[in-house]
Amino acid sequence: MGKIILTGDRPTGRLHVGHYVGSLRNRVLLQNSGKFDKLFFMIADAQALTDNFDHPEKVRENILQVALDYMSCGIDPAKSHMFIQSVVSELTELTFYYMNLVTLARLERNPTVKAEIQLRGFNHSIPMGFLTYPVSQTADITAFMADTVPVGEDQLPMLEQAREIVRRFNELYGETLVEPTALLPDNAACLRLPGTDGKAKMSKSLGNCIYLADEPEDIRTKVMGMFTDPNHLQVSDPGQTEGNPVFMYLDAFCSDEYFAKYLPDYANLDELKAHYRRGGLGDVKVKKFLNNVLQETLEPIRARRKELEKDPGYVMDVLRQGTEVAQAAAAETLAKVKHAMKIDYFA
Ligand code: ATP
Ligand code: MG
Repeated sequence: MGKIILTGDRPTGRLHVGHYVGSLRNRVLLQNSGKFDKLFFMIADAQALTDNFDHPEKVRENILQVALDYMSCGIDPAKSHMFIQSVVSELTELTFYYMNLVTLARLERNPTVKAEIQLRGFNHSIPMGFLTYPVSQTADITAFMADTVPVGEDQLPMLEQAREIVRRFNELYGETLVEPTALLPDNAACLRLPGTDGKAKMSKSLGNCIYLADEPEDIRTKVMGMFTDPNHLQVSDPGQTEGNPVFMYLDAFCSDEYFAKYLPDYANLDELKAHYRRGGLGDVKVKKFLNNVLQETLEPIRARRKELEKDPGYVMDVLRQGTEVAQAAAAETLAKVKHAMKIDYFA
C-alpha cells in the first residue's frame, strides 16, 4: 500500500499561524522528506458547509485563499495533490455507509464536537451534518487509504473516531480499510496555538488570528496588542511565562539564531524566560522581539503568495488536476468498500 498522507483544512477563512505551526510547516517537511508515496491535501468545503450552509459564498471564496496559503508555504503540486472535497462525490457515498457503524451517543461524546457546538451556539438545534462531520472525516481519510494524518491536537478525537469505524468495518466486512494514525507536531507549543486574545485556540471562527497573508503592519499591531500575563503590571514585577501567549508563540516560532540577530543580550529563550520570571523585563521588549521573529518567518510566505495571486487561473488548474487524481483514488476505495459490503451488483 505504501505510506500515504491525507489531511486538510476548512475553507472558512485564510490560514493563520496556528495552522502553520500545528500542521502546515510539518506537511511541507513530510512532503520534502521523500518518505511518503502519496500526499493528499484536502480543502474541506463540504465540512465547512456543515456550520456555514447559510454562507456558501464565504466557503467558495476561501477555496482559492486556502490553496494560495498552501502553495505559498511550500506545498508543491509536483509532489502533492491538493483537491476540493465536494467534487469527490465518492466521499459522500462512503460517509453514508459509515453512518451505520457509529451511534448517536458516540458522536455526542466527541469532546471537540461538543466544544464546537457550544462555540457556535447550536445548543439543542444541532444540524445533523455538523454532528456527523467526524464520520465524513473518516470517509476522507480512508478513501485514500491514508495511514498518516498530520493534524493539531484538537483533531485527536476525530482520529479516534475514524480508527473505531475502520476497525468496525474490517471486523464486519473483512480487512478492507487502513487504520490511520495522527501525527502531531513534536513541539508541545504547536499542538494548539492560543489566540492573540489569550483564548485557548487561535481559530478562524474566533477572529483572534494572525493570518499568513497579513501585511507587516497588521502583524505588528496584533503582536503589540497581544494578551500577556495579566498580573505583570510593572516592568519590575515577576511575570509568568507559562500560559502566557507571547511566550507560547516564541516557543512555537523562535530559535537561537533569532536571539543573535534581534536580542543579543540573551543566548536563548530559556534566558529570556528566566529574566521575565525574575522581574525587570517589560512586555513591550518581548513583543518587539516576537514581532521580529514573526516578520522574518512570514515575509517569504507573503512574497510567494503575492506572486501566486497574480495568476489565480493557475492555482485553480492545480486544484482541478489534484481533484482528478483524488477522485480516481477515492473511486478505487469505494469499489473495494462496495465489494466488501456485497453491494457491487453489476461488477
Ligand atoms: P474553524 O474555526 O473554521 O474550525 P480552524 O482555525 O479551527 O477553523 P481548521 O480548518 O478546523 O481550522 O483546522 C485545520 C488544521 O489546523 C487542523 O489540523 C487543526 O488541528 C489545525 N489547527 C487549527 N487551529 C490550530 C491552532 N490554533 N494550533 C494548532 N493547530 C491548529
Ligand atoms: Mg477547526
